[in-house]
Amino acid sequence: MCATKANPANDPHQITYEGLLEGNKQFIERSLKEDPEYFDKLSSQNPPVLWIGCADSRVPANQITNTKPGEIFVHRNIANMVIHSDMNMLSVLDYAVNVLKVKHVIVTGHYGCGGVLAAISNQQFGLIDNWLRHIKDVYRLHDKELDAIKDMDKRVDRLVEFNVIENVYNLCKTSIVQNAWQIGQPLGVHGWVYSISTGMITDMKVSAYDNANMDNVFRFK
Ligand SMILES: [Zn+2]
Repeated sequence: MCATKANPANDPHQITYEGLLEGNKQFIERSLKEDPEYFDKLSSQNPPVLWIGCADSRVPANQITNTKPGEIFVHRNIANMVIHSDMNMLSVLDYAVNVLKVKHVIVTGHYGCGGVLAAISNQQFGLIDNWLRHIKDVYRLHDKELDAIKDMDKRVDRLVEFNVIENVYNLCKTSIVQNAWQIGQPLGVHGWVYSISTGMITDMKVSAYDNANMDNVFRFK
């Protein structure tokens, strides 16, 4: 029998480097069996959605929305942040909006987010503390409501929701999004929270399609 086996999908701790490459061969075989033109059809991309999600391995954009390669342009970082000085995020956003002309940008957080938990733990974790500082700033905006939640898991989950809402707002503040709205390009910005325990996505209902409700100081003419 072949010495190299694909990684057992049900035990992540058994995953090996060689197993990943073997898994790739199986992916190619399976894809071509289902559709002989599978890879030909992916020679270019025209995704209608940009996904800004958490780097957490349990929140893969395509699987949880039942979509396929080519359908979602993806940017992920710790705790699905939209930081206006992050060149990586801005480059992805600019390309998605101005070249790919996506119709929707979705910030997707998830309950139980380790990044959000770390941000309110009062512990130091090293370099990442500077990234997590932005979540602490979100906490400060809602500290009365959050302080009143005694159950720590529930407090984290509420902060996850506030963090998504704030990052939707951060997207709206960018010149990239506002310029698209200015020229009448159809573009919706949305906030979702995913539950790893149920698989359910909750729409935070903060979708924006223009800058009408934005604080004046952030509005570009
Ligand atoms: Zn997370």
